[in-house]
Amino acid sequence: MNKYKVTIGMEVHVELKTDSKMFCSCKNALGHEKEPNIHICPVCTSQPGTLPVPNEQAIRFVQLAGLALNCELNLKSKFDRKNYFYPDLPKGYQISQYDQPLCGKGHLNIGGKEIGITRIHLEEDTGKLIHPKGADHTLVDYNRAGVPLMEMVTEPDIENGEQARIFCTKFQQICRYLNISDADMEKGNMRCEVNLSLYKEGEDKLSGTKVEVKNINSFKFVEKAINYEIERQTELLEKGEKVVQETRGWDSVKNVTVSQRKKESAHDYRYFPEPDIPPMEFTQQYVEKLKMALPELPDDKEKRFASEYGLNEKDVQIITAQSDLAEYFEQVICEIKEKITSHEVESPEDKVTKLAVNYIISELRKHLVENKHEIKDLKVTPENYAEFIGIVADGKINSSAAQTVLKEMYHTGGDPSQIIEEKNLGQMEDSFEIEAAVEKVIDNNEKSVQDYKSGKQNALQFLMGQVMKETEGKAHPMKVIEILKKKIG
Ligand SMILES: [Zn+2]
Repeated sequence: MNKYKVTIGMEVHVELKTDSKMFCSCKNALGHEKEPNIHICPVCTSQPGTLPVPNEQAIRFVQLAGLALNCELNLKSKFDRKNYFYPDLPKGYQISQYDQPLCGKGHLNIGGKEIGITRIHLEEDTGKLIHPKGADHTLVDYNRAGVPLMEMVTEPDIENGEQARIFCTKFQQICRYLNISDADMEKGNMRCEVNLSLYKEGEDKLSGTKVEVKNINSFKFVEKAINYEIERQTELLEKGEKVVQETRGWDSVKNVTVSQRKKESAHDYRYFPEPDIPPMEFTQQYVEKLKMALPELPDDKEKRFASEYGLNEKDVQIITAQSDLAEYFEQVICEIKEKITSHEVESPEDKVTKLAVNYIISELRKHLVENKHEIKDLKVTPENYAEFIGIVADGKINSSAAQTVLKEMYHTGGDPSQIIEEKNLGQMEDSFEIEAAVEKVIDNNEKSVQDYKSGKQNALQFLMGQVMKETEGKAHPMKVIEILKKKIG
């Protein structure tokens, strides 16, 4: 099976989160429109005599992406017409970029491997065709026509499905850090195409026949589609058959790729410079200014979080996966530091920090997923969360009470101390109260007491459970065991 090596390049389209469309002032609602054809105008529906005006924000977004992917920004760039006919494209051509894209060569590191970036350019999205079930006609919605679309092309440096998945995930993370796109595959504002070919060890890595896979709507499917293609093409080559140059689509139900279009020759799009938009020129000074505007990027944030907060690799990756979660975490740590300085929290900082991470990863994220919420929907303020973590760290409530408190905080945004008081969840310090509960349990469970006396260890666990129930989980478990043993004797 390992006679063949694989070479993969990717083309990723990302819809940009600009205020308005690419060449007109229509609102860019990114699919959140309530009705079809409400954000359209003579420009994006291509009425005669209209002129496109490039969106400065979209240009800046692409250049920021370029800087984040270590690309060279071209100081001279222009738009071109890509001619083809399709009913979702009102002009009969797409304004795109041909030989002078906004961004030239760059690279992105994924786990120690460098993936070359060929270019990033800017173009406009098309409208959408709707085929009503059973109808003998097709509808067209131009809300999406003219939405700014960024296209990033990689060098054929990717070697397998896993690398492709990691690459796409990282690119998505960067787009989100830059706040230039939601880059959501399922919603179609990020679309990945895979170019894949197999070659024999020792041969030129581009000697194989290129197969394109499109219509993949999740990173998991990117990986699966690649693995499937590698297997399919290896089998063909093993049998001495030829791989056909074609475009295939991913069928996520059958878990296979299916042939969509045979490619006899490359498309002739008859590119030529867009005559209605003058070429663009940028100064080095402008580029330097853009660099200053770049936020801290995922790799740098990961490194800093590991050294500054002593987090392990896995925790760092989860906390920095989204920039708003990372920001939330840093605000929490800031609050915790204050509480330690003012002696409101007695536990050492590293212990509290670790606990803050653990509760974010296990509890807070669970609530977010269950309620389909984002970090921005979070009602628990960093201050309240820090207070909560301090209370847990100092042992003022046990872990089951902690879960109850956090859940309540999650839904109401309430203050932890108040919730603990209202729900009477504080840890039972008074052994007198625990003793009373133990006595009651012993009186009510004679059989279990006898069982324990005759050597059945399980019986003690049962009795302990009863005491915890009696004290609503507030008694310290070690203390309960101690008193139980003493009383049963
Ligand atoms: Zn418009």
